[in-house]
Amino acid sequence: MPAPPRLVMATRNAHKADELSRMLATWGVDPLPDDVTLPPETGETFAENALGKARAAARATGRPALGDDSGIRSDALGGAPGVRSARFAGEHATDLENLELLRSRAPVGSGVAYVCALAVVLPDGVEHVVEGRCAGVVAATPRGDGGFGYDPLFVPDALDDGRTMAELSPDEKAAISHRGAAVEALRPWLAARLGGGVNAG
Ligand code: IMP
Repeated sequence: MPAPPRLVMATRNAHKADELSRMLATWGVDPLPDDVTLPPETGETFAENALGKARAAARATGRPALGDDSGIRSDALGGAPGVRSARFAGEHATDLENLELLRSRAPVGSGVAYVCALAVVLPDGVEHVVEGRCAGVVAATPRGDGGFGYDPLFVPDALDDGRTMAELSPDEKAAISHRGAAVEALRPWLAARLGGGVNAG
């Protein structure tokens, strides 16, 4: 049997690419070629933005492409920053600036949820979008140096030891994260469309 085709990753975010390539090792994920331009994230939903990125990468490369759009929703802020998570503290804000702004606005212990939409666009134009979620609360102080983005402030409900996402190993984070949940939702569809294992990778 021929090996299943590799996916091209429609992101410039090295942290996301790293997490996704670990999770999707069955198919293999390649970085986006330097000359491919991704569209601005102008959608009002994670799914719209993920699809826009995957469409652009599939069109430019002629290969199956995977787009990720993700972010954090705060209960205290009515769901903000949501699709604007990367730009919460300004157009070119750093992860730390975004985290500090969330920390200043969302009370300790208040509810937050990570959301991740993954979109796959195949060269024949077939599209598929899934979503994964992960619930948690705001930590009293940022802790840990793993992960990225809001991870030092995010205490997942799925663990009972109070660690933040940034204090987990990559495998521990993958087992409970929004991105991990989205990948699990995507896996059967990828296996059916591209071949490759359902349980491996
Ligand atoms: P975008 O999907 O490129 O719009 O960026 C999503 C933003 O949401 C990132 O810049 C992070 O701030 C945040 N984010 C998404 N996923 C994670 C995660 O797994 N941990 C921490 N922050 C995340």
